[in-house]
Amino acid sequence: MSGEYDVLIVGGGITGASLLYTLSGYTDIRKIALIEKYDDFALLNSNTRNNAQTLHFGDIETNYTEKNARHIKSAAEMLLRYTSSIPSKERDRVIAQCQKMVLGIGEEEIESLESLYSSWLKRLFPGIRKIGANLLEKIEPKVMEGRPHSEKVMALLSDKGYMVNFGELTHSFIRSAKKLGKDRVSISLGNEVLGISRSKNGFEIRSRRGVHAARFVVFATGAYSLFFAKSMGYERNLSVLSVGGNFYTCPKVLNGKVYRVQKGGIPFAAIHGDPDIANPKITRFGPTVTIPLQLERHNNSTTLDYMRTFDFDFKTMSTLKNVLLNKDISRIIRRNILYMTPLLGKYEFLKKEAGRIVPSLKYSDLTFQKHMGGIRPQVIDENKGSLIVGGAKIDEEGLIFNITPSPGASSCLDSSLSDALKISEYLGIRFNGAEHAKRLGAVKA
Ligand SMILES: Cc1cc2nc3c(=O)[nH]c(=O)nc-3n(C[C@H](O)[C@H](O)[C@H](O)COP(=O)(O)OP(=O)(O)OC[C@H]3O[C@@H](n4cnc5c(N)ncnc54)[C@H](O)[C@@H]3O)c2cc1C
Repeated sequence: MSGEYDVLIVGGGITGASLLYTLSGYTDIRKIALIEKYDDFALLNSNTRNNAQTLHFGDIETNYTEKNARHIKSAAEMLLRYTSSIPSKERDRVIAQCQKMVLGIGEEEIESLESLYSSWLKRLFPGIRKIGANLLEKIEPKVMEGRPHSEKVMALLSDKGYMVNFGELTHSFIRSAKKLGKDRVSISLGNEVLGISRSKNGFEIRSRRGVHAARFVVFATGAYSLFFAKSMGYERNLSVLSVGGNFYTCPKVLNGKVYRVQKGGIPFAAIHGDPDIANPKITRFGPTVTIPLQLERHNNSTTLDYMRTFDFDFKTMSTLKNVLLNKDISRIIRRNILYMTPLLGKYEFLKKEAGRIVPSLKYSDLTFQKHMGGIRPQVIDENKGSLIVGGAKIDEEGLIFNITPSPGASSCLDSSLSDALKISEYLGIRFNGAEHAKRLGAVKA
């Protein structure tokens, strides 16, 4: 495949696919291409095995600020509206309602839930309910079975519980884009992009299958987006800390999602228990936290690119030191390193994580799923001296680079809307905001 395009999207995960859908459905752009390195869509972080399948609303994520929660809530509602517009057979594969709560164990955690609830949570999410041990025993019995009577518990029960097969959703966006865009849309699978440079009329993109020209290019390549941005000389002040995550599984013990209290400012969730949309017979516990030196999980050939993406200058290293020396983050990392070790790891995971959620769980119930889980590319901003909570977008003339840690899958349509508005303005074409608002909700501009 080689050709000339108005817009070229690199990456066929959920970010690239939802942008393809948004551009083909709500603009008149004549030639849009998507290039994906592998032979199918959503084989990496957007794959259902590799993420926690949660449609995040910000109601049970105790590490979010009110601003983060407001933003992710409207993004998640957009995604819900999309799923209600697709045929019911397809919808059943993509999304399912499920019970969802955040569990506080002990006085300190209960106090922090109480204070969050009464400060802004209740106002933003009027459907959320405080529940105690008696109700917990009825709706999520295994959380109470075997728990010492002296241990105080409280939970916030959400009315917005959904599990999403983000891999199926990626395929659904591609199907919708082909239907809406018809011959305006070109897709190339198994075609890795190798490099990009500016040309007279836009950009020249080199891939394994040829050279392409495009007026606007969007990188939706997960952790690789910063790699490409840096290859073009942008954002020298940013680096990526790849945060890997694995899951343990056991035969089904939970009816729904049980999250744990996480401290504010920590950019990833505490280990939680979840049903699996693709396998109703199991419960998953995770994701664990590891720091692989890779841009793609379980792929050592990406280590060199990881090194190229990381700035080994004084400012970045001292930011990294501050991040890793943060009391809570260093405790999480120390514990999680242990969870990956054979035999002892499972014992520690049971004692400190899964067994805190389901006290009656036994060592033999748990299986470590080595090949389940992806990478959350957390961005280190050396100017701010900290990790950025949530995703990052780098906008340059005619270019967008999307870096997408959690909850990047939940916010994909919001991210695509923002990209589509920028692309439309840049190319001088109309974005059909009225139609977008009618189908998916309020438009930003
Ligand atoms: C353990 C874990 C748990 C998570 N849980 C949740 C959750 O519960 N809810 C939620 O909303 N989010 C969650 N996330 C985050 C979510 O999975 C990601 O934000 C989302 O999948 C990112 O999608 P993406 O399309 O940007 O990236 P990816 O899915 O990684 O896709 C990037 C694509 O780009 C392609 N690519 C890369 N380089 C090239 C190249 N050179 N040429 C062509 N193609 C290329 C890749 O092959 C890949 O297909 C979780 C993530 C992890 C790791």
